[in-house]
Amino acid sequence: ARQIVLASRPQGRPSLADFRLEETPMPEMPRGGLLLRVRTLSLDPYMRGRMDDRKSYAKPVGIGEVMEGESVAEVLESDHPGFARGELVLARTGWRTHAPSDGQGLRKVDPALAPPSTRLGVLGMPGFTAYSGLKVIGKPRAGETVVVAAASGPVGSLVGQLAKMAGARAVGIAGGADKCRYVKEELGFDEALDHREPGLPERLAAACPQGIDVYFENVGGAVWQAVLPLLNRFARVPVCGLIAQYNGVADNPTDALPATMRAILTKSLTLRGFINYEFEAEHYGDFLRELAPAVADGRIRYREDVTEGLENAPAAFLGMLEGRNFGKVLVRVDA
Ligand code: NDP
Repeated sequence: ARQIVLASRPQGRPSLADFRLEETPMPEMPRGGLLLRVRTLSLDPYMRGRMDDRKSYAKPVGIGEVMEGESVAEVLESDHPGFARGELVLARTGWRTHAPSDGQGLRKVDPALAPPSTRLGVLGMPGFTAYSGLKVIGKPRAGETVVVAAASGPVGSLVGQLAKMAGARAVGIAGGADKCRYVKEELGFDEALDHREPGLPERLAAACPQGIDVYFENVGGAVWQAVLPLLNRFARVPVCGLIAQYNGVADNPTDALPATMRAILTKSLTLRGFINYEFEAEHYGDFLRELAPAVADGRIRYREDVTEGLENAPAAFLGMLEGRNFGKVLVRVDA
């Protein structure tokens, strides 16, 4: 078996040297448990946070420990009454080819519902993040304007499509012409703006002539500064992610905090942070019931960016942090 461990804690932007690929003996199946073979590993921005040793909502990965992550895995051996050999499950296996499990926290993956890899993207944690953040906090209504960045990724792409389904106007922000074309032409957003081109504040203002009613915050930094002056009274801002700040260096040195606080006060804004699993008990069932048919018949589109081989996971992960991914980042793990 093989695994990838955290070799060192990055200062600022991580590098390949912060990861180490290790050969290990095949893990043993625990009594009453299962042995899993990873098929597809999900790579997600939150993993950058787990590489740091600072207080957050989850504890860091230790040096020499396997990188955390969720995957679609196949049951290779089972001593557990609830799972049979050959079944597919969603499991927090980490970045490795094989993992033991006691069965706790596993979700079965029904290949008839949708392609199994979608349970890591549009029909998985990122999709649920978009769905629940909009349903509980953003609440877009017909005629309103919804803005989201990282718009070609698994969270942002669903935010915009759900906004459209609610009758709102969807404006996406993404890096580069290809992503913008995809966001507008294939996902059906009304506008797509490239944040790497100059003049984002002016272009965003032009794309949102009625102002912004819902800003689904995925990035922070310069995008937030462009959004802030355009927020309408009673706008809602689900604060979902701040990827521009994950390496500890904001991409714009201007201090936006005083302006942020003034806007919260003078416009009665609701800014609420959330971690998707806080909404699971109440909303996960509806999420799958409503969206699985729409994914199956093509009303909801999604895109996957698949890397071959566990050994290439660190490079794919670093690429995602820089925006080199195009779609949900997955690793096909061939044991
Ligand atoms: P993506 O697949 O969209 O990948 C991240 C994208 O972020 C990159 O492709 C890049 O896209 C964009 N990006 C990176 N740096 C910047 C920057 N400085 N300015 C603008 N955009 C940047 O990721 P996900 O859809 O999985 O996640 C999106 C966000 O949602 C992240 O912030 C993540 O942490 C957060 N999240 C939060 C959850 C929660 O429970 N609160 C759960 C899941 C995700 P581009 O090239 O278009 O700029």
